[in-house]
Amino acid sequence: MTTATQTCPSCHSDSTELIGDIPHGYVFAGRPLESPLPGGSLFRCQTCYVGFKWPQLPKHELNEYYQAAEFAVWTYDPESRPDWVAARRILLDGRSRGSLLDVGCFDGAFLNFVNRDSEAWQLFGIELNSEAARVAQEAGITMVGSDADEISGGTCYDAIVAFDIIEHLAAPVSFLARLSELLKPGGKLVLSTGNLDSRSWRLMGGRYWYCALPEHLSFLSPRWSRAVAAQCGLTVQEIRYFSHASVRGLRQRLPETIKNLLYRFAPSAFRGLRRKGWGGVDVASSPDLADTPPIWITAEDQFLVVFEKLHQSTPDQTT
Ligand SMILES: [Zn+2]
Repeated sequence: MTTATQTCPSCHSDSTELIGDIPHGYVFAGRPLESPLPGGSLFRCQTCYVGFKWPQLPKHELNEYYQAAEFAVWTYDPESRPDWVAARRILLDGRSRGSLLDVGCFDGAFLNFVNRDSEAWQLFGIELNSEAARVAQEAGITMVGSDADEISGGTCYDAIVAFDIIEHLAAPVSFLARLSELLKPGGKLVLSTGNLDSRSWRLMGGRYWYCALPEHLSFLSPRWSRAVAAQCGLTVQEIRYFSHASVRGLRQRLPETIKNLLYRFAPSAFRGLRRKGWGGVDVASSPDLADTPPIWITAEDQFLVVFEKLHQSTPDQTT
């Protein structure tokens, strides 16, 4: 058990809280690993409210894992994603149109969903996975790079979206500031990610499924969004809460809730049940898998935030 505190990687405050240790990761972005990645510990900064995993793998090592990721893991039916449906409505309701950039657009499914019934927006994408980027380009999206830091500073977009991206980054506030630089004044920035302050996550602490995914490094919340918006030249317009599960009846929610409560409060009983074949995890070939967190996809543990770019210059740009 780690007891030491850890300086906040975002704001460098020493005022951080250890939430708990994170189980080892056995699958990275859909691909089983030959040897597990250590989970580290989950911390939260009490100054800027960012949650973060520590220690973290260096960026070049993470990129190697991403290049080997399963192509199908981030392929979605657009209508099944509440954040995509909400973001599309927000983009099409607004009076302004123009250029729309999807950061981490994968195969371009969201962008094509926005323009499904009209050519409302000019579509631009950024994607690290080269195979996915090729598919997006063939679908008519103008690909402008593989990383937001690569784009030249003069480019300005009318709207930017980034779904399920920011939790993969070690420096979320720098990412937010970079996206703000790419946005025209008055433009909208829509992000979605896990909510560190959700009820299910607060209950589970470091043993929550979402932070045990080894590709997730940073954990945000509406509280974090409000704390860092102004320093990035943004203001928070709207927050929405949602779950990634398309069906959330009692029949779906109850088994996940029971598994998670057992995992959290009776871990040895949970391991025992897993060894008896409960939960569809093959613990015979790899006994350590008995202690990996059950998913809780029906929990309302995600949020969508809509930022607007302020018209006045940010303090850094006034000199
Ligand atoms: Zn901080």
